[in-house]
Amino acid sequence: MAAGALPPGQARPGRAIQSRIVEKYGYTHLSAGDLLRDERKRPGSQYGELIENYIKEGEIVPVEITISLLKRAMDQTMAANSQKNKFLIDGFPRNEDNLQGWNKTMDGKADVSFVLFFDCDNEICIGRCLERGKSSGRSDDNRESLEKRIHTYLQSTRPIIDLYERMGKVRKVDASKSVDEVFEKVVQIFDKEG
Ligand code: AMP
Repeated sequence: MAAGALPPGQARPGRAIQSRIVEKYGYTHLSAGDLLRDERKRPGSQYGELIENYIKEGEIVPVEITISLLKRAMDQTMAANSQKNKFLIDGFPRNEDNLQGWNKTMDGKADVSFVLFFDCDNEICIGRCLERGKSSGRSDDNRESLEKRIHTYLQSTRPIIDLYERMGKVRKVDASKSVDEVFEKVVQIFDKEG
């Protein structure tokens, strides 16, 4: 399994890249943010309002919620097809709490092959998200939320990437480039890592 710890906005050529990875290498893409947004929309969800508040503030939703959504999605995918056991997990782990939750829940059940780190300048990320915001309808695609998200990223997510780096697990890609150029690098990594 490959896990991606992505700063805000870096997933946007990212969306195109993710679908190419899924297509070429047979991974199942699971986005922590998408799972949270789906849960927020689910009628009767006890977490809807809480999730919305965290997302708008650019803060990290408590791990119990995120990990249970991730694990359920992984279990459902494998129950439907036992061959589908490679996951590209996007936007997780995003802080120490996420990491501990992952280790506790997934110990002995999943291997993290590597972390795909899409590195990109903050202003480029903000520009991409603001562009996306013209049609996304996302409550966090505005400058105020994005600046908060960058703050959260620097404070909470970056140290997790550094930790994986020390374990030799980070594969860094310059994500400021075009989709084709970024994907070319991604292919080199996946062809090597399997
Ligand atoms: P994203 O879809 O990756 O852009 O994430 C959007 C928002 O969803 C983040 O700013 C957080 O509020 C929330 N979120 C995404 N991933 C996580 C996570 N791993 N843990 C908690 N909250 C998350």
